[in-house]
Amino acid sequence: MNTASRPSELKITDLRVASLKGAPFRSILIRIDTNQGISGYGEVRDGGSRDYALTLKSRILGENPCNVDRLFRRIKQFGHHARQAGGVCGVEMALMDLAGKAYGVPAYMLAGGKFRDRILCYCDTTSEPDGADMGRRLRERMDDGFGFLKMDIGLGNLKGRPDCVISPPGMQQTNSIMHPFTGIQVTEKGIGVLCEYVAAVRDVIGYEIPLAVDHFGHMGLESCIRVGKALDQFSLAWYEDMIPWQFADQYERLSHAVDTPICTGEDVYLKEGFADLFARRAIAVVHPDLASSGGILETKRIGDAAQEAGIAMALHMAMSPVAAMASVHAAAATENFMVLENHSVDDLQRWSSLVEGLPVPLIENGHIAVPETPGLGFSGLNDDMVREFADPDAPEPFGPTDEWNQLAAHDRLWS
Ligand SMILES: [Mg+2]
Repeated sequence: MNTASRPSELKITDLRVASLKGAPFRSILIRIDTNQGISGYGEVRDGGSRDYALTLKSRILGENPCNVDRLFRRIKQFGHHARQAGGVCGVEMALMDLAGKAYGVPAYMLAGGKFRDRILCYCDTTSEPDGADMGRRLRERMDDGFGFLKMDIGLGNLKGRPDCVISPPGMQQTNSIMHPFTGIQVTEKGIGVLCEYVAAVRDVIGYEIPLAVDHFGHMGLESCIRVGKALDQFSLAWYEDMIPWQFADQYERLSHAVDTPICTGEDVYLKEGFADLFARRAIAVVHPDLASSGGILETKRIGDAAQEAGIAMALHMAMSPVAAMASVHAAAATENFMVLENHSVDDLQRWSSLVEGLPVPLIENGHIAVPETPGLGFSGLNDDMVREFADPDAPEPFGPTDEWNQLAAHDRLWS
């Protein structure tokens, strides 16, 4: 076997972080170093804290990173739904990168091998007020080679238009109240405006390309159903996160009421978080973010569980090429995978240049090629680009983190 190191003697010696801004949002790169000169890279979910990763350092120092599942089980108690999972998931990515490098195999091999050589990507596109303009922007994406699109539709399109939205006073100005509790409803006139908008988009892009829609806004289930039924005529790829994922019974009602695939999952942590949605067959597309769902191996397990329930898996992703490549390996290794998100299409050249040893741009003709190189597939980070994307308000990239070396806690979850 041609190994990059002596895997059975590999030990973790350090964990450091670098805060990025603009790739495309705020996220934290993780670097785990070893006693054999190889390093592994991961990333904390966009919007998460450096501390989510650093608090795990004392719990993995001195351990063999190739024991990915054992270390994951040790640290997973320090994750939770949404951004709070960022440290656990980022460390898992870095362990998979290291294990792959140690054994000289791509990370997808450690997840059981691959089902495909190229990963289909869909791109987000920020909103235009006018439907025809939005259609033209999406058309440009198609001209760039994208074969799967996503846009926003919902309360945002109705802002400032009279008689479109019913709302208790002040409720449209807050985003911290869950959808069923806002009392916000959409009127028939509002639904008409949304339909005109999507019709104008479809007029430009045609009806043959998948177009997913997201960010409906915080309205109650009954308005979601009315909007969903009205938009069914446009055969959209999915309705995303119409209501919070916690309300599986409401998702079941929604799925039964409309004829478009229903999608959620980007904030759910671990396979067990998806169990109720799967058991009820409450969605048609599950949409984990690997930086919240538990990393590469757990996301494959989630995809496999979804497959048994007849549910497809798309992947949410709004981070740097590090998390993108971790997602590529999970996507390659999961049979019911459909499509992977990308938020950096308007800055693709610069974004792709953050890592070395992979094609620039990373997305070609709407796909990312599954690399055959070890670990996550890139040879390292481009230091100049890390400095360019570094958050000016954060400590220096990959500076010392010795204050996180000592464990001063008893982690056992049972007595
Ligand atoms: Mg979303």
